[in-house]
Amino acid sequence: MKTIGLIGGMSWESTLPYYRKINETIRDRLGGLHSAKLILYSVDFHDIELLQRALDWQAAGVELARVARALELAGSDFLVLCTNTMHKVAAAVEAAVAVPLLHIADPTGVEISRAGYSTVGLLGTRFTMEEAFYRDRLSERHGLRVITPKPDDREIIHRVIYDELCLGVVTPTARSEYLRIVAELAGRGAQAIVLGCTEISLLVGQQDAEIHLFDTTAIHATAAAEQALAD
Ligand code: GLU
Repeated sequence: MKTIGLIGGMSWESTLPYYRKINETIRDRLGGLHSAKLILYSVDFHDIELLQRALDWQAAGVELARVARALELAGSDFLVLCTNTMHKVAAAVEAAVAVPLLHIADPTGVEISRAGYSTVGLLGTRFTMEEAFYRDRLSERHGLRVITPKPDDREIIHRVIYDELCLGVVTPTARSEYLRIVAELAGRGAQAIVLGCTEISLLVGQQDAEIHLFDTTAIHATAAAEQALAD
């Protein structure tokens, strides 16, 4: 089994389900007392969020590259960045190490395509919804058409992530707002929804919606476990 290097803490609330899902997947595949070999480097999200807010992606990339090198030196065979947003600096991380990075959008795109969908609604931070780094990966590598909420709704999605979900706050008000926005995306042609922020599944799950929700946290964590077991 390969050793997974997890870059976590963005936020730690969503790193917890990664740890659980990776271990559950290894247990289910191998049985008995098997569990994942992994090394977790959990950052102080306060520092990262300041860089995001300042749009200092260069410094954020330098910091995550430093973390990636530490995980490689500690014996990681491949890396998993436990956030959609910070894949904005995926190239800086990849350039810093010899081991591969399992990009979150790739197993997500594969699952969506396998399910037969071609147009998806994307929920995530403002950066993930509005910038090219994530949407283009889904479009160019996986052939998906990506639509996003209207500007006011993007603001709601973004604010709830940072002011509530990253702090472990889950409210019925936020859930109903998210579900309203999901319905609006479905009305505009989304055949499925990408929960493109690793905290969103703390708030909404498939039980809340008729439309197919693709939870990037579960998909990424499962793909990490499978990569650890692959030859
Ligand atoms: N975890 C979130 C994501 O998947 C947002 C927090 C962050 O900026 O990393 O995008």
